Amino acid sequence: MLEKDDQNMRLIIRGTDVPFMNALRRAVLAEVPCMAIDEVVIIENSSLLQDEIIAHRLGLIPIKTDLDGYNLPEECPCKSEFGCNLCRVSLTLDVEAKEGTRTVYSGELTSDNPDTVPVSDKIPIAKLAKEQKLRLEAYARLGKGKKHAKWQPVSKCAYKYFPKIKIDNRRCDACGECVKICPRKVLGKDGDKIEVRDLMACTLCQDCVDVCPQNPPAIDVSWEENAFIFTLESTGALTPKRAMAEAIKILDKQLKEFRTQIKVKKSEKS
Ligand code: SF4
Ligand code: SF4
Ligand SMILES: [Zn+2]
Repeated sequence: MLEKDDQNMRLIIRGTDVPFMNALRRAVLAEVPCMAIDEVVIIENSSLLQDEIIAHRLGLIPIKTDLDGYNLPEECPCKSEFGCNLCRVSLTLDVEAKEGTRTVYSGELTSDNPDTVPVSDKIPIAKLAKEQKLRLEAYARLGKGKKHAKWQPVSKCAYKYFPKIKIDNRRCDACGECVKICPRKVLGKDGDKIEVRDLMACTLCQDCVDVCPQNPPAIDVSWEENAFIFTLESTGALTPKRAMAEAIKILDKQLKEFRTQIKVKKSEKS
């Protein structure tokens, strides 16, 4: 683990390959469920924004998700299109600009579950002029990113190769060109020596190699074949750790299912 807080996680994963890393990345993005507003009943809207725009904005508000407390609608025993307490949370909004122009924020949504609320109270939904009203009921449900991006629990999920930087001190004359050109401040100069100060920040762009006046260059940038730096930034719907743990569980389940299918196909042939 390189870094972990409520929203970000950066870790080194070793002993694997690109297809696996990509499968993991896609599982986080497309398969890990989270809550998002999925249906909106507009009772009154005298703002300048059309109902559809307001519904779309509501859908994109990240909602704190209790994955253990709710079912995916398609897996809920209620089998109801409308949903039940186990697969749907209702949020209401009832605002009027009594005094003058005002902005309506996500924090004004009232949820029937105090734990299922917008991640931030400060997301603007609409601006109302004096006497305009916005009254609505919204239903949040669990869903997956593969159906709509509003159900992605992460705003960033990416990996890169683990960098390897070698400086040949016999040929390097410490001209400092590589230090100057590096956009990520990976390199530094200590007296007449070039040192690697922040290896993890290297993007493997090779600018330092290209700028080196030595022939061949005195600096070499490459990467480890089976080690990766995985970065995940949560929208706040789930903790990064939970999003990652769920992705691993889902991937594991999918691989087991794949193995069973291969066995079935094989036995069908024989
Ligand atoms: S490859 Fe790019 S990011 Fe990495 S050290 Fe060289 S210039 Fe900096
Ligand atoms: S550009 Fe080349 S020669 Fe100059 S300091 Fe960097 S590695 Fe050394
Ligand atoms: Zn249900």
